[in-house]
Amino acid sequence: MTDQATSIATLPVLGEAANQTYPIATLYVVATPIGNVADISVRALHVLSLVNAVACEDTRNTAQLLTRFGLNKPLIAAHQHNEREAAESLIARLQAGERIALVSDAGTPAVSDPGARIVDAVRAAGLRVMPLPGASAAVTALSASGLVNDQFHFVGFLPSKAKQRETTLQQLRTVAATMVFYEAPHRIVECAEALAAAFEPTRQVVFARELTKLFEEIHRCPLSEAAQWLAADAHRQKGEFVVLVEGAPQASDAEDAEAERILNILLAELPVKQAAALTAQITGKKKNALYDRALQIKG
Ligand code: SAM
Repeated sequence: MTDQATSIATLPVLGEAANQTYPIATLYVVATPIGNVADISVRALHVLSLVNAVACEDTRNTAQLLTRFGLNKPLIAAHQHNEREAAESLIARLQAGERIALVSDAGTPAVSDPGARIVDAVRAAGLRVMPLPGASAAVTALSASGLVNDQFHFVGFLPSKAKQRETTLQQLRTVAATMVFYEAPHRIVECAEALAAAFEPTRQVVFARELTKLFEEIHRCPLSEAAQWLAADAHRQKGEFVVLVEGAPQASDAEDAEAERILNILLAELPVKQAAALTAQITGKKKNALYDRALQIKG
């Protein structure tokens, strides 16, 4: 254990972060951990130790986090209720040549968190904004979900009122990309019920709970089984959640599935060539491809 700690402390990458250039008059947008404090990046630590001040969503949370890193910095409150005014004073400080870090309570600032207005104002003032990437609950959940889709559609928090939530979900019904929702524990059951009512029950849902924390849990099931899974253990309704929902079945997928179904029925009664030809006639799909598939099915 000691050997490992010693070797980490002497890793060249630590020196690499320290030897890079960190321009003055720059706003550093710094992602912080979403649960596991050790997920802070080397570069983020270096920048946090270098800046003149840290603009943050909640000064108490950020003070605690910085203490965990052994840092003590002047903190500036920059939350959703004062973002515009905070931006003005930050711009004045940056123009005077300071380096300032912008953080949120957890994860990447400006992703379902305050920060976007400050970044916008700082850029509009012609000042430099430098992002320091790190944890984001959405991407963390996607990476461990096993859902195979090159696209994702970030929704974030659904409206809390049932009617508005339903309207939003109806608008999402045809989205082909994997959908990413954030949800609070006291609404997770309602959320699961609303998702099951809005989308096909066969679509896969993933509950990514307490990511990077002690009670991390990642569960995948069809939407039809979601409410039952949550109800089976009260612990499953606790903590922070990312909910992923498989995108809408695409027309070509549905057509392929239908052709496969017809081919299988016909193959049970007819020779391969005839079954393929009839399936092609019924579905409009290519005869040769269906013939090859029929041979595969027949082994
Ligand atoms: N900016 C953050 C990010 O980059 O992901 C998100 C902030 S948003 C206010 C907080 C929500 O993110 C939580 O309600 C939950 O839906 C999700 N979240 C944050 N941390 C999480 C974790 N450790 N496990 C699962 N979900 C998490």
